[in-house]
Amino acid sequence: MSSPVWHPFTQHGLGEPIPLIAGAEGAMLHGADGRSWIDAISSWWVTTHGHCHPKIMAAIAEQAQRLDQLIFAGWTHQPAEDLAAELVRIMPENLTRVFFSDSGSTSVEVALKMALGYWAHRGEARHKIVVMEHSYHGDTIGAMSVGQRGVFNAPYAPLLFDVVPVPFPAPGREQATYDALHTACRTGAAAFIVEPLVLGAGGMLVYSPSVLKQMREICAAHGVLFIADEVMTAWGRTGTLLACEQAGVSPDILCLSKGLTGGAIPLAVTMASEPVYAAHLSHDRAKMFFHSSSYTANPLACAAANANLAIWREEPVPARIAMLAQRQKARLNALKNIDNPRTCGTIAACDLPGGEGYLASIAPRLMAHAREAGVLLRPLGNTVYVMPPYCIDDEALDRVYAVIASI
Ligand SMILES: *Cc1c(COP(=O)(O)O)cnc(C)c1O
Repeated sequence: MSSPVWHPFTQHGLGEPIPLIAGAEGAMLHGADGRSWIDAISSWWVTTHGHCHPKIMAAIAEQAQRLDQLIFAGWTHQPAEDLAAELVRIMPENLTRVFFSDSGSTSVEVALKMALGYWAHRGEARHKIVVMEHSYHGDTIGAMSVGQRGVFNAPYAPLLFDVVPVPFPAPGREQATYDALHTACRTGAAAFIVEPLVLGAGGMLVYSPSVLKQMREICAAHGVLFIADEVMTAWGRTGTLLACEQAGVSPDILCLSKGLTGGAIPLAVTMASEPVYAAHLSHDRAKMFFHSSSYTANPLACAAANANLAIWREEPVPARIAMLAQRQKARLNALKNIDNPRTCGTIAACDLPGGEGYLASIAPRLMAHAREAGVLLRPLGNTVYVMPPYCIDDEALDRVYAVIASI
């Protein structure tokens, strides 16, 4: 009898082997059978400083002695208070409110509900959401609705709500994006949601900070809420704490998850500006923000996030990230027979000749080849990318690129 586990984004009908991992440390995953793998994609973009970082593990263990879980509606605890205060301190100045949830998708759902609540409570009928082509914001119904339509969500298409897409600002074609955004904003959109600088699941598509800045200004000119989904791009991935920083952009609403706990344990926040919060503030109970998950602001997760923030304060994380960015770029540029090499901070990506689209046959072949060679890679169609934990050493990084070169 095979395992009863039903894995995400896995076609069990193909019979791919599923390695059993017993432990991890730094950039390495250790199999139960004694083999090991270099985690070249940070266990799906979450692990920032490395697996089992001692400070994060210790913070979880220590918190586990005190308080495991608490209803967060009308009650609070110190790890959440400390985390919220620190996030307000280090994130863009206008983001003064912190709403907790437990995954990137949920942080997006919360952002969309905040935006719609903002307009509803102000008495203006705005509910259109503007989105960028090729975006990914998660797999719940609302998050899928604002993401790129395709093979991933075709069976659910009848349930997805209508959105207004603007084209991806490919180099030289930015004006089309601005024009479409202008038109959408002029006709009463509620919000624009975007992944700043890098569209992750859409194929590691990068665009420049000046485009991000321009899009933010168009939204601001029309009072359209600007939602930055930094679930993947935050916590140093793009070379700065937030990708928005590089454009001097302050969003109205910000989604954070993945690296918020250093990637150790699920947690998310949606940060909001004072006007978004104030629109829900009233003596009228009908205007409260009607959203919660059971594990909202789980104390163990908040303790892990506080440890992550301490690492950012105490260790030379920006220098480490800058070094990794250079090391990635040098290795990517040395690859031959690839198309569209691109980097953004610690992220490096390129396209392999041989087919387009997420289901490109090269993806499972490359994944299997890498797995055999001791490297965890997971191409997006014919796009292969390297997004390792910041602690990866030169030898391991060389091995990752050797595997890509040997396809
Ligand atoms: C991964 C991701 C999400 C979804 O996060 P989950 O924790 O997997 O629900 C949302 N937005 C972006 C940009 C992501 O990369």
